[in-house]
Parts: sequence; structure tokens; C-alpha cells
Amino acid sequence: MLKNNLGYPRIGDRRELKKASELFWAGKLSLDELVTAGKNIRLQNWKTQKEAGIDLIPSNDFSFYDQVLDMALTVGAIPDRYESLKSKGEMELYFAMARGYQKDGLDITAMEMTKWFDTNYHYIVPEFVKNQSFELYSTKIVDEFNEAKLQGIETKPVIIGPATFLLLGKEKEAGFHRIDLLKKLLPVYWSILKQLADAGAKWVQIDEPILATDLSGIELNAIKEFYGKIALEAPELNILLANYFDCYGNNLETVLSLPVQALHLDLVRCPSQLQDILGSLNLSSDLKLSLGVVDGRNIWKNDFDKSLEFISRAKNQLGEERVMIASSCSLLHSPCDLELEQNESKLSAEIKDWLAFARQKLEEIALLAHLSQNPEDKVLQAKLQDNQTSHARRQASTLIHNQAVKQRVADVSKSDIQRGLDFKQRKVVQQETLNLPHFPTTTIGSFPQTSEVRKARLQNKKGELSNSDYHDFLERHTALAIRWQEEIGLDVLVHGEFERNDMVEYFGEQLDGFAFTQFGWVQSYGSRCVKPPIIYGDVSRPNPMTLEWTKYAQSLTEKHVKGMLTGPVTILQWSFVRNDQPRSATCNQIALAIRDEVIDLEAAGIKIIQVDEPAIREGLPLRRADWIDYLDWAIDAFKLATSGVEHSTQIHTHMCYSEFNDIIDSIARMDADVITIECSRSQMELLDAFAEFNYPNEIGPGVYDIHSPRVPSREEMVDLLTKAMKVIPEDQLWVNPDCGLKTRGWEETKQALIEMVGAAHDLREKVSVYQ
Ligand code: ZN
Repeated sequence: MLKNNLGYPRIGDRRELKKASELFWAGKLSLDELVTAGKNIRLQNWKTQKEAGIDLIPSNDFSFYDQVLDMALTVGAIPDRYESLKSKGEMELYFAMARGYQKDGLDITAMEMTKWFDTNYHYIVPEFVKNQSFELYSTKIVDEFNEAKLQGIETKPVIIGPATFLLLGKEKEAGFHRIDLLKKLLPVYWSILKQLADAGAKWVQIDEPILATDLSGIELNAIKEFYGKIALEAPELNILLANYFDCYGNNLETVLSLPVQALHLDLVRCPSQLQDILGSLNLSSDLKLSLGVVDGRNIWKNDFDKSLEFISRAKNQLGEERVMIASSCSLLHSPCDLELEQNESKLSAEIKDWLAFARQKLEEIALLAHLSQNPEDKVLQAKLQDNQTSHARRQASTLIHNQAVKQRVADVSKSDIQRGLDFKQRKVVQQETLNLPHFPTTTIGSFPQTSEVRKARLQNKKGELSNSDYHDFLERHTALAIRWQEEIGLDVLVHGEFERNDMVEYFGEQLDGFAFTQFGWVQSYGSRCVKPPIIYGDVSRPNPMTLEWTKYAQSLTEKHVKGMLTGPVTILQWSFVRNDQPRSATCNQIALAIRDEVIDLEAAGIKIIQVDEPAIREGLPLRRADWIDYLDWAIDAFKLATSGVEHSTQIHTHMCYSEFNDIIDSIARMDADVITIECSRSQMELLDAFAEFNYPNEIGPGVYDIHSPRVPSREEMVDLLTKAMKVIPEDQLWVNPDCGLKTRGWEETKQALIEMVGAAHDLREKVSVYQ
């Protein structure tokens, strides 16, 4: 029974990769040193997995930025604008594609980034043109296999499959569909596979999570073509085809007809598919099944009884040799190691006992295999019993249940999720109260979290900086930010979020029902990591959470300061969520807590309140048929959080992603007075959805990309806004960046915002000339 892991976190236990990359980008670390840092992490990961007894240890799951970008570079899908950088070496080119390039008189934009399926991980979107060509450009896959081999560790290279790679990309010009590129792409895949076979690889894991979505006949044919030919092109290799995050669904029959050696099933997201497969007449007589029973997306200890039931069902029908025990998906989405959590005041022993992180999940995989093979073994039986006891303790724990919260959710009525007046009328009232100019300017909330800010927070945490000194420090920063925003002439100000570590953690820390880790980091994009809270019990708000800082900021200025909250769906989506009740139930509990905060802010005189929901879209189920149910409860939760205010209070929401077409009616149903969205990387294309829908409320399409340090010019932003005005009536438009500025430095932030305010002024003038 092979023990199979699909991928391991690559950031390092102590976020070594983040630290090294950021130093490298800042010019404080040499390329060699960065490369070594990567090497060390890979080696450590391989060793950890080997020691845990994993048989199929992944390689090429490491990445300096993103695995899709790695694949784009590997197959030479390098957009033309980077041509001149090829001579600068692979890494320089690679990071330029990820982050843009503004050096040596060059000014090249980064590639787009978007969410990886329904996770909070972002990948770089491959770009394709009609006469796209491919070549084997980078040898990373084979290099990393050889690197491990040299250390005495035989690995299973992980490659993103061609269907997923193409379908996750984007056509940059009209006249073709990216799946048509398959024929040109395949030779590159053949040469990779051949090289791997020559290097001695036995197993290759080909990731095709696109199989968790609805696919067209053409797309399924492309899959058949590729997998049908592998046996001819690289007959020595065993192929493990991996789909995760949902069922194979309608793609199952096609998949079962493919001549691959093993099929991976995510049995956490789709437990029912095991029966479908075992019952299928098309199940070939030697196909191995990799049973993804250990949850790669959540932090709960595995329920051994449940997993063993799956395993024995498969084993009984297929025999032991045809069953692998696996993580449900790559452990990229799990924090590294629970054993780093040694601070009981942070994470109590009671809760810790319910959890498993990546490293513990490896042990679970191994234990499950052993338990299934040696059920009579005394030591193993004791471990099984421990597991059962810990689950029983969790179910019965008094930490979890709060009757008052359950009752309040049960009592929610229709009128609680509706503003009292429709938008058109609200707009009139709000215009009177707020008195804003045309093209009002604002930002999305956070200002740079400089090393100074982070250092002060850390010192305060460690007790090296007293609460009152820390408080003074934050007041100073907030006051400076307010003054500076006034100076450059922004219309709606923000307090800057200096007191916040993270937009979810900050709230979770103040809510009941949430627990926190110290080292539970998960990669979000590039070097950016998040530390999702753990929602273990019923959620409530013992005290106001943002009131003091918002009031303080407002007290410093005559201009409106926007209150800044994270919405219930985003808090849910970016947390590790309890698995003992439906997500919707947890979401409503959070919504009520946020609702109380919104009402408190309003009572304190705050007239504009933004409730960020950047995660609504990524919460969408992967299959269309499941969307309606999700959108119903998710949008209702947002409305529950925001509908408790007067007509004159302006509710904003913010979302940072790049597709609205298919959910625009739900976005409209949220009924936020103003929505700010990411738009600049797509050159305002996203607005088409709003235009077509005749979206009635106000919109702030982001006019510059905050993911890159590049400073946009005033003209560039005027251009973008002019484009926006072609599709959105000007009295609906706001001017703002794509997202919060916390990852940027002050220098570029200041320059960019001055240019942005300038752009709004240019536009006001332009429009008044016409009128
Ligand atoms: Zn955003």
C-alpha cells in the first residue's frame, strides 16, 4: 500500500523562502544565496517526508513563486514583452513575469494573477497568443528530480497537466481557443517525460485539477489525446493522474478510459466518488487508486475510523497493491508543523489535540496505511484509540457550543437582510450627507506595513514594547497617514490599518470561537503568506473591534474616514473552518458579529463603512450546479452584516479578483452602495460585465496594480478611467487603486497616489469641459 503525498508546503517551517526572496528582491541577498535557500527547503522537505515513511515523495512541488508560472517558463510560454529579459538569466526573467520589471530604463508589467480554484492561493495566469510556440525552456522539473536523487531520495515529480495548464491560461488575442494549442504543447511534455524516464523516475504525478470542473467535449478530447499517448512516448513511466478539490463528476467516464496507472481521488471534498468508481464497469483491472483521505485544505485531525472505512472498501475490491493512501490535495494549503505551536496561551492544549498540520498529516497517511495492513498490532491499536478519544473529546467540548448565538441566527428574519430603501433613493440621501466631488478618490484601506510597523507589533507581542507605547506608535502612524492623505487631496480617507496584522486574523483575534497559531503560515502568493485563524466554535463578538481606531482617525480630520471591516464570507473563506456544521451556519454567526460592528461604527458618526469581501468568488463551488446554493447563503450573509444601517450611511465593499460576468447578478444583489474592484491588469475589461448588466450602484475600478512596485503615470490612469467611462456612467465612478497597499513601500505608494489624485482632477476638468 503506497503512501502518497501530493505536495508539501514550500515556504519553510519558519517562512525561510519568504525571507530569502524578499531580501533578494531588495538587493540584499545574492542569487546564489537565494538558490541555496530554495535548495535547503527542498532537501528538508524531502527528508521530512522520507522519515515519515511516505513512499511517493513529490518533487517539483517547490517553487520560488508559483507552480503555474514554473510551468509557463518550463514550456517557454513567455510573453513577448519579456523578450529583452531573456538574456538576464532565468531567475530575473521569472521574477519579472511574476512581479513586473522597472529597471535599466525598462518598464514591463507583470502577468495577471488569480485564485487557484477555490483556494486562497494565487497563481500566475499563463498568456497565450494565436501563433503561440512552445519549447523546453527550463529544466527545473528534471533538475529537481536529480537533485533529490543525488541526496538518495527517489521522488515522484509533480507536473501540471497540459489541459489544466492551458485552460487556466488566457488568450491575449482573438481568433483561437487556448485548448487548440495542445498539439503544439505536447512535444514539450513528451520531452519532459522522456527526460524524467531517462533520469530514472518511476512515478510521475500529473495534476489535472481542471477535472474538478465542468469540461466541454473538446476539452475532454484533449485530455484523451494527451493521456492516450503517454504510454507510447514514455512507456517506462507510471502515471498518477491527480484531480482534487471536487469530484471527477461528469468527467469520470473519460478519465476511467485513460491508460494511466493510478488515479487520485479527493475523498474529503467528494467522498461519494469512491463508490462511483468502484462500481463502474469501466474500471480497468489494474488501475491503482490513490485515496485522498487526509485533508490537505483543513487542519483537523483525521478521523481514522472514517478513513479506514474508505480504505477497506477499496482494499476489499481491488486488493492491497492497488490502493494508495494519500493527502486529499497538495499540503501546500496546510500550515507546516503543529509541533511548532508550544505556546499554550495562544493555542490551548485542548484545541491543539484536535489538529494536524502538514507534518502531522504525513504521519496520518503512514499510520492509516499501517493500521489498514496490521489491524492487530497493539501499538497501532493504541494510536487508533488515541485518535478516537480525541474526536470524542472535541465533540463534547464546552468550548464549541454557545446557545445564545445559535438562537440569534435562528431568529434572523427577511427584514434583517434588506436595506430599507432602494439604491437610487439612498444615493440622493447619501450625496446630501457626504457631499463628495465627481470621481471621488479613495484607497482600499491599508497603507504600507513597513518593517517599522511590523517590528513594533512584534515587539509589543513579545512584551518588549509596552501597550501604551505601542498605542502611541500606532496613533502617530495613523495621524501621519491622515495628514498625508489630506495633503495630497484624497476625498475619502482611511485610517491605514496599521494596527492590523491581517484582515482576517485581526477580527478573529477579537471574536469568540476563533483560535490562533503562531507559526501556522500558508502561502497566498509569491512570498506572501497568511496565517488563517481556526474557527472551532460558535462565533460571537464580546466587544467592538475597530471602533477606537476609526473614531480616532475621524477625530483628526473634517473629511470622511471610511470604517474598514472584513466581511463574513471572507472571514469564513480565509479561516480554517469547523467541519462539524455547514459553512453557511458558521458564516451567519460571523455576519451577526460584523453587523454589530457596523452599527457601532455608524453610531459613532462614521458615515462610510467598507465591508471587504474579496473572497466571495473563490468560495464558489467548482461546478456550476452547486453555485446557486452557495451564492444564496453567501450574499445573504453579506446583507445580514450590512443592512442594519440608516439610508444615509454609505456601504462600500471591495473585491480583488478578475471575473464578474457569471456572478454579476449576485454582486448586484449584495446592494453595496459602492463596490471597488481590481481592474487595472485587465485594462478595465472587467467593467464590461457591469456595463452589460446595467449595474446600478457605484463602482471604483482599480486604476493601478498594487501587486507590483511599479509606479503608474497619471496619463496611464486617465486612459484607464477614460476607458471605464465608455462603459460606466461617470456619476457612478470612483477612483482608487486595485487593492490595499499594505504590501507596498511608502515611496511608491505616495508617488502612485499623487498621480492617481491628479488623474481624478484631470478627469473632473475634462468632464466639466464637455458639460
Ligand atoms: Zn483587494
